Amino acid sequence: MFRRIGAAMAVAALALTGACGGGDDDKSSTAKATDTNFAAGTTMAKLHDAKKITIGTKYDQPGIAYKDPASGDLQGFDIEIAKYIGAKLGLDENQIEFKEVISKNREDFIKNGSVDLVIGSYSITDERKKVVDFAGPYYVTGQQLLVAKDDDSIKGPDDLKGKKVCSVTGSTSIATVEEKYGANPVPFGTYTECVNQLTSGSVDAVTTDGAILLGYAARQPDKLKVVGDAFSTENYGIGLKRGDTKFRAWLNDQIEGSFKDGSWKKAFEGTLGKSGVDTPEPPKVDRY
Ligand code: GLU
Repeated sequence: MFRRIGAAMAVAALALTGACGGGDDDKSSTAKATDTNFAAGTTMAKLHDAKKITIGTKYDQPGIAYKDPASGDLQGFDIEIAKYIGAKLGLDENQIEFKEVISKNREDFIKNGSVDLVIGSYSITDERKKVVDFAGPYYVTGQQLLVAKDDDSIKGPDDLKGKKVCSVTGSTSIATVEEKYGANPVPFGTYTECVNQLTSGSVDAVTTDGAILLGYAARQPDKLKVVGDAFSTENYGIGLKRGDTKFRAWLNDQIEGSFKDGSWKKAFEGTLGKSGVDTPEPPKVDRY
């Protein structure tokens, strides 16, 4: 059984051509729902009818997902992806409830229903796929190093032996640096805490995805720099409840739609692009 809700086709057409004017919302997703004709019983129909989705994201990663302490606004590439998905469910931005997640609670939050989705620098891994499912990837980055601006002793992961390297519990980053590079890992709950450890001189480096580190470096360019080439591949996906095949397929359709309609590129340029990351080609969605 299908229900047709007054579809905002005209608005969508404008959004797709980027012709909606209003320079103010240039950095926000321009997606509007084009087809909210969801089959009964699907998660899409449920969220659409509830007029609400809860999306877990990070609050402390400039460029990716960041909550401005003054205004309370959320900004970043992941936030734009979240808004795009919300719009495609036929929801207004104020019907998207964002909830803060940290690296180590993402699987639990999805499993116990605290969030409907996680869009928060969330790498697709086989280990995590045992617990949750992923749509995407919608972006690919790789692990790098953040060091003090005046530190010339660390140029890449091979220089990490015996160095104190901060990363986050439950992240792929801490696992890689522990397992492969003989560093002395210092675990914290968030990357903000790690960056504070670095600026106070308590650790020698912070490691995680380059896209995240570039955002921190862009905030304190006189104190911090990102060094070396990427030494891992991080495929960012949208985390959802394991086994919800129809929702995953629909999410993959939306991700591909954002690649095709220009929204993805626009979102990237308005967020990560501003931290100095070149706009890449969109990745190939993995419909596993
Ligand atoms: N993308 C990596 C991960 O999902 C590192 C960033 C993060 O901790 O969110 O583990």
